Amino acid sequence: MSVQVHHIRKTFGQYTALADVSLSVKSGQLTALLGPSGSGKTTLLRIIAGLEYADEGSGRIQFHGEDVTDVEAGQRKVGFVFQHYALFRHMTVFENIAFGLKVRRKNRPPQAEIADRVHKLLKLVQLDNLADRFPHQLSGGQRQRIALARALAVEPKVLLLDEPFGALDAKVRKELRRWLRKFHEEIHLTTLFVTHDQEEALEIADEVVIMNQAKIEQVGTPQEVYDRPATPFVYQFLGNVNVLKAAALAAGTAPPFPTGGLQSNGHIYVRPHDIEVVPHETGAPGIPAVLRYIHAAGPAARLTLEQVESRETVEAEISRVELERLGLKLNNLVLLRLRQSRSFAEDYAI
Ligand code: ADP
Ligand code: MG
Repeated sequence: MSVQVHHIRKTFGQYTALADVSLSVKSGQLTALLGPSGSGKTTLLRIIAGLEYADEGSGRIQFHGEDVTDVEAGQRKVGFVFQHYALFRHMTVFENIAFGLKVRRKNRPPQAEIADRVHKLLKLVQLDNLADRFPHQLSGGQRQRIALARALAVEPKVLLLDEPFGALDAKVRKELRRWLRKFHEEIHLTTLFVTHDQEEALEIADEVVIMNQAKIEQVGTPQEVYDRPATPFVYQFLGNVNVLKAAALAAGTAPPFPTGGLQSNGHIYVRPHDIEVVPHETGAPGIPAVLRYIHAAGPAARLTLEQVESRETVEAEISRVELERLGLKLNNLVLLRLRQSRSFAEDYAI
């Protein structure tokens, strides 16, 4: 089931948590909502779930084209997993998962069917041997998988996950996100996954929605948002970037020219690995720079260079093989060619 968010605004007193946000979440996909802390991710998720309401008259939420703006949370058929999803402490894993079905007044399945469904879910999250454990007898990762099983028990049409692995340590997080990706491929349930971790979002999602200061900055596949950031914020939030004064570069810049053109009063954003370093003797069009430092530890070599004209510092990243082939020494004069870059107008500059 797809989810459409149309022009949602949410204010808390004077504070704007969501400023006219519109978004379309594709059916059956895993979409990551990525942004720094405070950017409005949880607020948006809660409004989609029906746990929070947008400002009066500000916009609509649709599930598969059907308006659910005024439908209460319990009727929206969404599953929710939070960072700290307190499982019921005095209930076993089995009872926790069964809870949502047992408390139903309408359409409560018979006991045997509930048991059957709980065991299927436990199998699905690969924890079928833990049915009789209590939450304190589980690891953090296991607890979140049980929380996921509990969210799925009521057969939601949409799954909303708010930093579900946020409280776990780095190694477990990595394992669990791969596990979740595989899991998603099995069930193909429309899933919206909130995270502030760039790597997590890029690795796990079909599509990434990048939020900043109550707004959506860009929507795209992980590759699109990483390779073709639409805004200065996205450039900086996803990976390393050089921000160079265009005026100093324009003369030496070789094709391909920056997306957005060679405007003299802007800034050019370029990722270190999108800079090609060529010997000065080639005489090709390029930006003259002097090599100041080589950091060669790690999979790639990072070069710190100083532009001859503007004296601005540029970071370039090239392979170790390429470094050896070029035979570069400190203080060598080289030419920099920008394989892929983008220019932004003056007032975008940070
Ligand atoms: P994120 O999940 O991206 O970290 P949130 O959606 O939780 O961001 O919050 C966005 C902003 O709205 C934050 O500055 C937060 O302090 C504010 N906010 C969220 N909920 C409330 C609330 N109930 N009352 C007042 N301010 C809130
Ligand atoms: Mg949050």
